[in-house]
Amino acid sequence: MNKKYFAAAATILAVAIVVLWLANIFLCQPTAFSFARTQEREQPEKTVYLTFDDGPSDRITPKILDILDNENVKATFFIIGIQAATRNGIIRREHESGHTVAVHSYTHIYSDIYRSAEALIDDIDRCNAVIKKITGARSEIYRFPGGSFGLDGKLISAVTEHGLRYVDWNASTRDAERCTSCAEDLYHYAISSAADSNNIVLLAHDSTNKVYTPDATRMIIRYYKQRGYSFGTF
Ligand SMILES: [Zn+2]
Repeated sequence: MNKKYFAAAATILAVAIVVLWLANIFLCQPTAFSFARTQEREQPEKTVYLTFDDGPSDRITPKILDILDNENVKATFFIIGIQAATRNGIIRREHESGHTVAVHSYTHIYSDIYRSAEALIDDIDRCNAVIKKITGARSEIYRFPGGSFGLDGKLISAVTEHGLRYVDWNASTRDAERCTSCAEDLYHYAISSAADSNNIVLLAHDSTNKVYTPDATRMIIRYYKQRGYSFGTF
């Protein structure tokens, strides 16, 4: 009988060790946004990372920058190189205001950039050449057009081996997905998709037709300020 109890206890102990070992492996995996600058500094408990893709645009980006200035909040802009090439002043303003200017794409044409790993890296380098010309330095931060979700692992490896760290998102204003009637919609999508988690990486866009995104951004910032969140950049 004692032997039976001993065997059962040993089995439970062995299972517990394996479970703890597996938990350690999975829980310690870095997330797509674990390298954020703010987290490296002070590890605030609750942080929102506002990210804006597909800019700069003459119509929307300056409005978003005005709101960020007024609210004293920093954000990350994943830019399109071909648009930035003729809008150096907007990128310079983003950079000089303390926002992060990061790589999204030069052309944003999926059929070209996702043709091969070489094509993808060439697109990134072209975008980074524009960033370097304006800010003086290349960016190591990248967002895959459409996100990394479901992409061929070879494309993802090519990017990380090229020295870039990529950022996806876990919340969205859905301003690229549907035709919305007002900023309140985008605000509610953002809040409900984030579900008050402690690390929120929010997807929004500053391309020229996102007319409701600036007002939604102001509402989103105020919502999270009231709930004690900090605002981080990558
Ligand atoms: Zn995009």
